[in-house]
Amino acid sequence: MLSVSGLTKSFPGARALDGVDLTVGPAEVHALIGENGAGKSTLIKVLTGVYRPDEGEIVLAGRPVRFATPLEAQHAGISTIYQEVNLVPLMSVARNLFLGREPRGRLGLIDFRRMHREADEALRALGLRVDVRRPLRSLGVGAQQMVALARAVAADARVVVMDEPTSSLEPREVRTLFEVVRTLKGRGIAVIYVSHRLDELYEICDTVTVLRDGRRVHTGPLAELDRLRLVSLMLGREMAEVRGKGRTKFTGARRTDDDEPVLDATDLTVRHSLRGVSVRVRPGEVVGLGGLLGSGRSETARAIAGALPADSGRVLVAGVPVRTGSTPAAIRAGISLLPEDRKAEGIVPGLSVRENIALAALPGLSRFGLVDDARIDRVVDTLVKRLRIKASGPHQKVGELSGGNQQKVLLARWLVMRPKVLLLDEPTRGIDVGAKAEVRGLIDELAGEGLGVLLISSDMEELIEGSERVVVLRDGAVVAELTGAEVTEERLLRAIASEEGGHDD
Ligand code: ADP
Ligand code: MG
Repeated sequence: MLSVSGLTKSFPGARALDGVDLTVGPAEVHALIGENGAGKSTLIKVLTGVYRPDEGEIVLAGRPVRFATPLEAQHAGISTIYQEVNLVPLMSVARNLFLGREPRGRLGLIDFRRMHREADEALRALGLRVDVRRPLRSLGVGAQQMVALARAVAADARVVVMDEPTSSLEPREVRTLFEVVRTLKGRGIAVIYVSHRLDELYEICDTVTVLRDGRRVHTGPLAELDRLRLVSLMLGREMAEVRGKGRTKFTGARRTDDDEPVLDATDLTVRHSLRGVSVRVRPGEVVGLGGLLGSGRSETARAIAGALPADSGRVLVAGVPVRTGSTPAAIRAGISLLPEDRKAEGIVPGLSVRENIALAALPGLSRFGLVDDARIDRVVDTLVKRLRIKASGPHQKVGELSGGNQQKVLLARWLVMRPKVLLLDEPTRGIDVGAKAEVRGLIDELAGEGLGVLLISSDMEELIEGSERVVVLRDGAVVAELTGAEVTEERLLRAIASEEGGHDD
């Protein structure tokens, strides 16, 4: 049905796809997996006409195709169901189903009776019973996605691409979605399914293609690939290489066992992302959070920092309860979060080093509403020296610094707040090797001074060498905790891939 060969796509500074081949037959559900940055989204965007490839060709049902726009791809028979349903919420379900293809009467007016009848039939065929006259937005997210799917089917799709379709669905809706996928299969449609949930992949997919760093590293029947192998392929760590390999060096700070935890988070639950996660960190301890993309690592950090409202659970800092769901309350209690996306959530490139560092602390550095300039100068100066931030001076714009130095500025911003607990989400991603080593050294130093550190890193080595303990998450729940000598790559891979503790729905 669809055959892609030698697909290459580069962006300034990144080769997102590097000679990728992909073949999907009729009635085949093909899983497309890979860690963050592997190239999945880029591949989908090339297939659906959002991007044009630099090289390579796409053959659809035997004919070479080239899409200049998403609409062209749709007309050729490739439909996409994005995470965010791109329909018109205020219009009726039926209107959405037939958007742009409304059945019309002789005068060119929309034939509503026919449209409603056909919409009803199309949805029933997928096992969905809703009043098609209702506005789309009155339906749940799951039902809205079903409408998007029905639209794809009604539009004579030959290939349906689903990118993380279940991430915001209830278990019951997931079941319905799977029924629909089976219906699509029954009609000979080819399905490309992107998801990080291993259980789902094994349930619904026939074949799998694993991407890593823009390259295809494996294609084959999913049933022949066990979870451990799958995870090894995604992470690029071969079992043969890691088996029996212990920790070469452990750089994390030591702590005493009987210290009271400085961070004690219990039973954190957030709809669609966390299911009763508990984490404890003692002063001076670096605790790693392990798991695949989408396992709930960032959500755990954000829930602790009040940036993601938790449905239940509690957080204590040095024994004192912290109001959850409030960033200011978390900051006052001594929790600082260095977010994953420093461009979107942290750094203000147009402001100076000094301004960026003082940003979060300004209320505390002011007296009677006046900014205490001399005090800010002192604090900034101390931190620039302490973190060895390389800038021409405190007034240089942060946007002009290297990635590593930008990250240090962010770290400085949070250190001004004198935190007790530091939550670091991918602190060394996207910075060069030298800066990585420096940031790692800084983390150890800070822990050495008694800070509790929770470290999220997709870099296995960083996690293993830097953490005293590693708490492993899978599908939003803690599935293992490794301590001391247990913290090895083999144990970590096994824990991430383990079939225990999966979805209970
Ligand atoms: P995935 O969906 O598997 O996480 P992506 O396809 O989003 O991976 O990204 C693959 C690589 O291409 C990454 O290194 C990413 O930073 C880069 N990339 C993706 N889109 C763009 C873009 N529009 N501009 C620049 N770089 C991009
Ligand atoms: Mg993506």
